[in-house]
Amino acid sequence: MEKTEQMICFLCRCHGEVDSGHQDLGQTEKRIDLEFVRARVMAAYSFVKQVKIFDSLCMDQDFSEMARHIRDCCASRVLICACASKIDEIRLGLKKQDMDAMVEFADVREGCAWIHQGRHGFATEKACDLVKMAIVSLAEQGVSSFPDPGIQPSVLVVGAGPAGLAAAAALARAGIRVHLVEKAEQPGGMLRLLHTVGPGNDTPKAYLASYVEAIEKNPLVTAYLSAKLMSIHGDPGCFTARMIVGQKKIDVKAGAVILAMGARAVLPRDVYGYRELSGVISAMELERNLNKGMAIQGPVAFIQCVGVRDENRPYCSAICCPVTLKNAIQIKTDHPETRVIVFHRDMMCPGVELERYYRRARGLGIVFIRFDAATPPVVLGKESIEKIQCLDTSMGREISYPVKTLVLSTGLAPHPNTNGVFDQITLAGETQKDGAFQDFFSVKPLMNPVQTDVPGVLICGSARWPVLADGAATQGEAAAMKALIFLGDKGLDSQGLSQFRESKFAIARVNADRCSGCGNCVAACPFEACRLEPGNGRYHCRVNPFRCTGCGTCVAVCPNNSIQLPEQTSRAIGAMLLTAFGEQNTGVEENSPDRVKKQKRAARGIEQ
Ligand code: SF4
Ligand code: SF4
Ligand code: SF4
Repeated sequence: MEKTEQMICFLCRCHGEVDSGHQDLGQTEKRIDLEFVRARVMAAYSFVKQVKIFDSLCMDQDFSEMARHIRDCCASRVLICACASKIDEIRLGLKKQDMDAMVEFADVREGCAWIHQGRHGFATEKACDLVKMAIVSLAEQGVSSFPDPGIQPSVLVVGAGPAGLAAAAALARAGIRVHLVEKAEQPGGMLRLLHTVGPGNDTPKAYLASYVEAIEKNPLVTAYLSAKLMSIHGDPGCFTARMIVGQKKIDVKAGAVILAMGARAVLPRDVYGYRELSGVISAMELERNLNKGMAIQGPVAFIQCVGVRDENRPYCSAICCPVTLKNAIQIKTDHPETRVIVFHRDMMCPGVELERYYRRARGLGIVFIRFDAATPPVVLGKESIEKIQCLDTSMGREISYPVKTLVLSTGLAPHPNTNGVFDQITLAGETQKDGAFQDFFSVKPLMNPVQTDVPGVLICGSARWPVLADGAATQGEAAAMKALIFLGDKGLDSQGLSQFRESKFAIARVNADRCSGCGNCVAACPFEACRLEPGNGRYHCRVNPFRCTGCGTCVAVCPNNSIQLPEQTSRAIGAMLLTAFGEQNTGVEENSPDRVKKQKRAARGIEQ
């Protein structure tokens, strides 16, 4: 912190959760005495120009009031002492007030007032320590520099199934240029191959009509059909995709990428007489036969969980149970006399609508037989399927049904990463050597379900995880909104980017003069953000700011202290430690020259 800089500190009462303020409560009820904290801080640090106590810091009027105080005292560094849960909200609120001061937080609610209820004196002392530690840390922090991201105001959407179409339509509605790439001749994805889309029983064409119309009518969407995607290169904010359409090579630029390429149906292999006995077909073949209006010979049986929930694919594919219900109901409704039996391990029908669907199937007389993975149904027949024997685990007895048509309900698997198209925009761990995705993409399912580990790369629909058409379209719209936020944050700085990634810290910075090019950070960085580059006759490390999540791993392995997180430098941590543990023994006042020297020594101790 420069000598001319000022700091301001805001303490939050949280409407009495932290400090009951003027209310006449007993000492044990008071929790933290913020007036006492304020007096301590003001006495200790001359560069802290003001310490303001607010009843709340997370409302709109609080942001404008804080901004007014920050401007009044020309503070370049702001300490917020409040609750842990509102950090991002407060940071964003200040940003909206055009505040670009450096901001640090101290948690005085959850980590202090709440956990030390009934210990008023102790909680107040601890709050003093927390606030003082945050002050010295903020004073030692450097400013993150961040290159101009040069964001392209357009989005590449890979795949024109329900997720991709919904994403493209939403983005175009918001005025963003969209490049929609689809390998098939028509939009619709796998949905296009289905007979009907349940539970509403729309035709795929009717189901997709509004999306298709939206993208056809909007000149901001360029759809590349029958396109072969060759590569996607670049960094978040500026990707370049190369594709071949017909004989033509086409390059397009986009600021964000939405992966909506769906998944592929697993093919039954050497199971249940598939390809050996006539009458045994896959679920996709049943859709095709229904589409052609072919008669389905009864009795009809379905076997669930084929090719999934086993050692190779140990997951539930989520969509095959609802799809079986759809087709079983269709067959039973068209031909009530046909016997329909579903052999299942569990019928997965989450939600009220699918539960109703299941009950409707039962009401129509469709028979559900539960089996165990260890004792799967046995299919018997000579040239054609004749019957199925199975241990019914619900009844605890062997049963046998004559069957003319057996439908194998296979799950979904990730698409192969053909030619390593996605290598540049995913992390290496996500693909296998043979080019197939090891798993569906890695996402942050709880708080940020359509965000991949790479900023600006979103994922939705069955590319993310098997999902029905409605869910895929909803995710497509969610991904579009996330892409809009990413593109819209024109003043994307290090704090903005780290906020987008839900990470507190910003971007690692390299001191090229000190870097020996040892490569430790390159090997250690879990996000492939470090690489060695030549310069001045030697190699030194360069950090890709879009990939860096501020995890700090590189800082720990660098032998020369040449890579640091500006917000958490060794000096800042040293100063915090000295504030927390050094003071009682030394009796040195915070503002004294001795203390400043000690802080410097502590910081050097960490650096050496
Ligand atoms: S959705 Fe049903 S059939 Fe598909 S894997 Fe899950 S339990 Fe098996
Ligand atoms: S802080 Fe983490 S993500 Fe950033 S360069 Fe260092 S190791 Fe990589
Ligand atoms: S670990 Fe440190 S010295 Fe080695 S390449 Fe990385 S930044 Fe340079």
